[in-house]
Amino acid sequence: MPEAVWAIVVAAGSGERFGGPKQYESLGDGTVLDRSVAVARAVADKVIVVVPPGRARGSGDVEGGPTRSESVRRGLAALPDQAEIVVVHDGARPFASPELYRAVIDAVRAGADAAVPGVAVSDTIKVVDTAMTVVDTPDRATLVAVQTPQAFAADRLRAAHTGQPEGTDDASLVEAIGGRVVVVPGEPDNRKITVADDLQWARQRVAEER
Ligand code: C5P
Repeated sequence: MPEAVWAIVVAAGSGERFGGPKQYESLGDGTVLDRSVAVARAVADKVIVVVPPGRARGSGDVEGGPTRSESVRRGLAALPDQAEIVVVHDGARPFASPELYRAVIDAVRAGADAAVPGVAVSDTIKVVDTAMTVVDTPDRATLVAVQTPQAFAADRLRAAHTGQPEGTDDASLVEAIGGRVVVVPGEPDNRKITVADDLQWARQRVAEER
C-alpha cells in the first residue's frame, strides 16, 4: 500500500510586501488560498491549512506562527504519526499542478529525503554583504530557483525542525541535517503571489482558462 501523504499548506503570512493578506484576495470563484488548497486536496490523502490567528474555519485548519518555519512546525504538530510523506506548499502559489505534486512525492518514494521543484535562473545572481558590496558571483549553471510543493520523508522533516531552526524553505533545514534533497523540474506558472503585479497576472491567467 502506498505511504500516507499529508499536505501542509502554509498561509499564515501577513503579506507585508503585498500590503495585506494576499492569500485571501479573490481569484476566480474563490480566493488565492482556496485554489492552492484545492490542488493539495486533489493529490494528498489529508490537508492541514495553516492560517493567521483568528482565521481557522474547520478541523483541518491550525493557526500559524510569527515565521514561515514556525507556521510549518504548527502544521507538523497537527499530523498523526502515520503520516509518512509530507508535502509543504505555500498558500500563495495557486498554480502548482497536481503533476508537480506527484513528481516531488515520487522522488521521495524513490528514496530521496526531500524533493523540490526548481527552475533555471535567467539573471546573474550576486552574493552581497550588508553594505551591498558584491562578495561572489556563483556560476549560473549551478543555480536553480526553488518553489513549493516540497515533499519530505516525514521523519526527516520532523528531525529537521527539531530545535526551532529558521529557513526560507523547509528543504534548507533538511540539508542542514545532512539530508539528500533532489530537484525536479519546476513550473514557470507556479509563481508566488508576492506583489500586486503578481495578483493581476494571476487573475488574467484564470480569465484565460475560462
Ligand atoms: O513570506 P513568504 O513569501 O516566504 O511566505 C511563503 C508562504 O508562507 C506564504 O504562503 C505565507 O502565507 C506563509 N507564511 C506563514 N507564516 C508566516 C509567514 C509566511 O504561513 N509567519
